[in-house]
Amino acid sequence: MPALAGIDRRIRVAAEASGRAAADVRLLIATKTVPAQRILPVLAAGYRLIGENRVQEVTEKADELAAVPHELHFIGHLQRNKINQLLPHISCLQTLDSADLAAALHSRLDGDRTLDVLLQVNVSGEASKSGIAPEQIPDLLQALTTYPKLVVRGYMTIGLNSADAAAVQAGYRTLVDWRDRAQQQGMPGAEHAVELSMGMSGDYESAIACGATVVRLGSSVFGARANSPESVVREGPPR
Ligand SMILES: *Cc1c(COP(=O)(O)O)cnc(C)c1O
Repeated sequence: MPALAGIDRRIRVAAEASGRAAADVRLLIATKTVPAQRILPVLAAGYRLIGENRVQEVTEKADELAAVPHELHFIGHLQRNKINQLLPHISCLQTLDSADLAAALHSRLDGDRTLDVLLQVNVSGEASKSGIAPEQIPDLLQALTTYPKLVVRGYMTIGLNSADAAAVQAGYRTLVDWRDRAQQQGMPGAEHAVELSMGMSGDYESAIACGATVVRLGSSVFGARANSPESVVREGPPR
């Protein structure tokens, strides 16, 4: 995994440059469009956290990937009618963006099963992006206190799609500020909300400098996707 060795090093350097430990930043490997046969060696090399953005791909790859232990986070837009198909496969939904979706998820979690979630926040205000506005964070956190099986671990954002690094970082800092504020003010529902999933192949070092605790990398690991660059911002099947 030559690409991954380089990425590990860059993550460590970026973390240490901002006074953090490399272990404080988790690498999530975005495996969308990548066949299971190419994912398995990555899992076998010890990279155990992967992310998919389409339910159909999750279910298609599940049997093959089951050969190696791993953890799957869903990072795409989730349609209500796909919840039952998805739930057996994931440990975290990174894209929770409404109380309605929370209610639907909660009602489908059996017994004492809990599910980690991140609130997806649209920090750039771009109409093409899913997620709540930052100002809606307190209300959604509050609403989630009704659903104890959903454990809010933090926040996820897809950064501004721009070559202007300062503008992208400003968005990430907005999310850091809200995370800190929710913690400091003890906002209901924010007890465990410390994670910040932000940064992709093009800007992960910059996101780490801002405080990312999870970075989501696809193309820098596997090469450009056949249907990129559109597939980066698209969060689900064509609508
Ligand atoms: C595809 C995807 C990524 C990874 O994008 P790259 O630019 O290939 O690293 C990260 N986050 C989400 C939500 C994605 O859909």
